[in-house]
Amino acid sequence: MTVITSCLVCQAAELERLMLVTEEGVAPQEFEHNFSYANTLLLVCQQCGSGILQKYSHDPSGNVEDDGWDMYWWYVLDLTDMQTIRQLLETCPTPQDPTCNCALHHLLRTSENVDGSIKHMTTPTSHADFARLTLAQDGDNSTLQLVHRDNII
Ligand SMILES: [Zn+2]
Ligand SMILES: [Zn+2]
Repeated sequence: MTVITSCLVCQAAELERLMLVTEEGVAPQEFEHNFSYANTLLLVCQQCGSGILQKYSHDPSGNVEDDGWDMYWWYVLDLTDMQTIRQLLETCPTPQDPTCNCALHHLLRTSENVDGSIKHMTTPTSHADFARLTLAQDGDNSTLQLVHRDNII
């Protein structure tokens, strides 16, 4: 797995990794890795302040000709939502621990329920398609929801 290095919004190569949100399986050590693995990372752009959720899946049972084994999806959060997330981050004891049960880890895991209908990429690129997420209040809970685009292809 590699991590995207340039911002999808402003293209700046100033991404900082904030959190490991989810992790499943055995982390790939070698190029041809026979175990499935998936994780979700939260990054922030130090240039424009956008948040980027990177979802990664390594699935050796997938059809190599169609998709390859590595699939990436990206979701972008705007500055306002990132301010809220940064406040919550201060209450997270272990940002790099995907088993953490803090409010922010819970919140970001709700992104698992979002179907962005974006095409995956097989390697990170700052010109990839992405979907926008926003924080939505649902009773006492916040969830991540998809921002519907006007011009969905
Ligand atoms: Zn940026
Ligand atoms: Zn946490």
